[in-house]
Amino acid sequence: MTQIIKRLEAHVANQIAAGEVVQRPASLVKELLENAVDAGATEITLHIKEGGKLLVQVIDNGVGMSAQDAVMCFERHATSKLQTAEDLFKIQTKGFRGEALASIAAIAQVVMKTKTHDMELGREIHIAAGILAEHTEVVTPKGTSFAVNNLFYNIPARRNFLKSKQVEQRHITDEFHRLALVHPGIKFTYFADGAPLFVLPSTSFSQRIVQIFGKKIQDKLVPVQEETPQLKISGFVLKPESAKKSKGTQFFFVNQRFVKISSLHFAVVNAFEGLISNGVHPGYFLQIDVAPQTIDINIHPTKTEIKFEDEHTLFAILRSAIKHSLGQFNVAHVLDFERDPNLDNPYETLKTPAPIPHISVDASFNPFEIQEKPLSSKQSSKQLQGTYSKDSSFNKKPASWELLYSNIHNDSSGINSSDPSDSFTEGSPVQTNSFVEESHMQAGFFDAQAPSKSAHHCFQLGRKYLVSSTKSGLLVIHQSRAHQRVLYERFLTNFTHQEAASQQLLFPKELSFTIPEIKRIEELIAPLHSLGFNMEVKDDQTLSISGIPVVLQEKDLSQVIQDFLSTYEAGHLGDHFSQTDILAKALAKSMGIKTGDVLELSEQLNLIDELFACKEFLISPFGKSVMTNLQQTDLDLKFL
Ligand code: ADP
Ligand code: MG
Repeated sequence: MTQIIKRLEAHVANQIAAGEVVQRPASLVKELLENAVDAGATEITLHIKEGGKLLVQVIDNGVGMSAQDAVMCFERHATSKLQTAEDLFKIQTKGFRGEALASIAAIAQVVMKTKTHDMELGREIHIAAGILAEHTEVVTPKGTSFAVNNLFYNIPARRNFLKSKQVEQRHITDEFHRLALVHPGIKFTYFADGAPLFVLPSTSFSQRIVQIFGKKIQDKLVPVQEETPQLKISGFVLKPESAKKSKGTQFFFVNQRFVKISSLHFAVVNAFEGLISNGVHPGYFLQIDVAPQTIDINIHPTKTEIKFEDEHTLFAILRSAIKHSLGQFNVAHVLDFERDPNLDNPYETLKTPAPIPHISVDASFNPFEIQEKPLSSKQSSKQLQGTYSKDSSFNKKPASWELLYSNIHNDSSGINSSDPSDSFTEGSPVQTNSFVEESHMQAGFFDAQAPSKSAHHCFQLGRKYLVSSTKSGLLVIHQSRAHQRVLYERFLTNFTHQEAASQQLLFPKELSFTIPEIKRIEELIAPLHSLGFNMEVKDDQTLSISGIPVVLQEKDLSQVIQDFLSTYEAGHLGDHFSQTDILAKALAKSMGIKTGDVLELSEQLNLIDELFACKEFLISPFGKSVMTNLQQTDLDLKFL
């Protein structure tokens, strides 16, 4: 038998391994910055070009490498950070797998210069596709400069897979923040295409947060401090009122490593219970230090999850530490950065109870009432969201479905003989859905006796659902999703037909954001302009808005921009259509009726009317189910 199994050549094996280590330019940034930190650098500079696709370079003043090590470091599993298997359990460095440089060199063109303190001349190495091209002496300062050019130049399929410059740069900036935050003692500088983006001199943790997120975050930081024999928690949470819908200020570092662990996030959210509303995320910058042997250190280089030996205890300690701090901050609101927070005596202030937050609901508010009289300013905004004046495009539609119900009414044989598709002539794809036909046929819940919308058989369940009887059972409608659907279709129509008409604000409105958010908004100014927003960035934390889409209320502005940002964070904006779509969704979400809102009967009925006038009324704009139908036969089964 011939031998068919062969060992892969090193550079092929490295190229395969590189697939796991390097997904995008940000992975290079993470690996190279971590190596610089591990090398004991006190100053680290990052240069990128074209979102890192052309160049990612990291220059450090760390220990450097000897002539032999400068070649050896590109070998697979070559590391100075680990020698025996036992070492794994006391790892203090970021790296230890010895995979990064071999992987990077396999899929890019690398130029490295390095020198240790006792070398006269340094070494310069050129390596591309895993093959050493040049190895010379060079005059270079102590430390290492590592330049990665043309990532994936030899794997076009993967190169094509990279996203736009802006998206890749955003990922890089995220990685940069993660590392710079947890190493405030190191001076970091970050240049993108030659321009300095961040210059962060050596400082304390709290000031590093301020350097990155802007001065305004300073007053929002609440210190958290806890120490037990097993672990130490230190850092800050943001005051409850600065919790946001968009994520961007959630940082956990375990033993100085950025991690994302949902149970820990949950512990923080839990500690904020009652202080923030659903759907917003508390901000935090928390460092947890534990003995290395109590965590599963075998962390994959690209992963940010780790496992703890005793997660339950950690969860409980974290939650109570944050609760304690939040209680405390009510009396000591402004954090003095000149003062060492460790010197504060928290226990003295414990006796002061935290004010109980309460949500006020305007019980008289009626978004669906068709108003003859002018709206009072208090009412006007909500009413605009839910009430459509008689000439609104939406009000034209109910006629078609009313026809449907009158069919049912006239036809005493009821459900089976009515053909819903006759009445719903919108050409909506939902008509092929059998459930739609079902629900159209449930039309009997609009009591045909009543003049127009009829049904008094409707009530609100748990301030969340609208329940209405139908001919053969119960229809349960999710109120917030239903309203989102109604608003979404309305906004889409408005944006498409009115070409995003803009209303000028009497006084330009200034909104505050963090520095990274402002940088993101800068990318969005053009698409937002085409949607009717006129805005300019005033300084690194302030946005000035002079015009907004006509459908938008000024008071909702801040929330809508936040929503738009978080939707944008989730993906990237494409053509005008998708931008319109994202804005319509963001508007619908932030302006829509929420779970917990109390609706009067007329409001409930109006919502149902408007919902059934929509092209697609079964699914919310976010793809969630809007209603369900409980058949009487299902109920019968429960009473056997
Ligand atoms: P790891 O970091 O897991 O050890 P890498 O492939 O990232 O593996 O690096 C291999 C080795 O090269 C490191 O263990 C270290 O000795 C050396 N090295 C890498 N980058 C630097 C640097 N910036 N300064 C000094 N030594 C470095
Ligand atoms: Mg490394």
